[in-house]
Order: sequence, then structure tokens, then C-alpha cells
Amino acid sequence: MIKPDAVANGHTGAILDDIIKGGFKIVALKYTSLSSAKAGEFYAVHAERPFYNDLVGFMSSGPIVAAILEKDNAIEDFRTLIGATDPSKADAGTIRNKYAKSIDANAIHGSDSDENAQIEGNFFFSAFERF
Ligand code: GDP
Repeated sequence: MIKPDAVANGHTGAILDDIIKGGFKIVALKYTSLSSAKAGEFYAVHAERPFYNDLVGFMSSGPIVAAILEKDNAIEDFRTLIGATDPSKADAGTIRNKYAKSIDANAIHGSDSDENAQIEGNFFFSAFERF
């Protein structure tokens, strides 16, 4: 998911380009937004964390781009492509290093396991929206 900060700052095209050039196939793609209820549901795993309310507020603050991506070793390779959660610690050339400004407005989300990728893909997309 390309987060509201990156969409608002005009980085959607550049980020999609980095993803495609990184060898990921786009299986599904959607420009949409999350209500605070839907953002809360998406990040329910973080409900007990002190930053949860800020995270939900931020993720529902503007449009996002959701995608399902496919690649061998996709979870690990996408993490390498996007960089560390805190952009000040993200390696040079990573998406968060190039396009993110802070740990909350950090440009992009990636699933942390194949199982969560299935759940998160189903959150955004029906079977008819995947190619
Ligand atoms: P990710 O997998 O790199 O996105 O990181 P996590 O799953 O640990 O956290 C989910 C999201 O919560 C991150 O992408 C950040 O947007 C946000 N987040 C994580 N840690 C913090 C924090 O300490 N403060 C704030 N404000 N947001 C955080």
C-alpha cells in the first residue's frame, strides 16, 4: 500500500516504477481511501500499541494505492526495496529513504508474511480484480 503522504506528495508513479523495476508483477491495483474504521481494521494487530490512534488517523487522512504484488521471495525482497520502518534508518535508494519523512508518514506498507499478504489482499480486492 502506498500511504497517504506519498500519494499526496506526488510519489505514486515513481514508487510504482521502483516496484516494477524491482521485479514485482502487479496482480491487482486500486486508488482508494480508508475510513478510520477500515484503517483500524487493517492495523488491528497494532491496537495495543501507543501509536495506534495516530496510525489510524494518518492512514485515513487521504487516498492510498493498494496493490497485490507477486515475485519469488516477495516478502523479504519487498522489505529490502522499501527499507526500514523509520526512514532515517532506511538504506540509501530504498523507497522510504527516497520518499518518506517520518516513522508515521513512511510512504509505504508491505505485508510481513505470506499469510498476512493473503489477508491484506483479500481486504482490498475481489477475485475479479486480480490478473
Ligand atoms: P512496517 O512493517 O515497517 O510498516 O512496520 P510495523 O508493522 O512495525 O508498524 C506499522 C506501521 O506503524 C509503520 O509503518 C509506521 O507507519 C507505524 N509505526 C511503527 N512504529 C511507530 C512508532 O514508533 N511511532 C509511530 N508514530 N508510528 C509507528
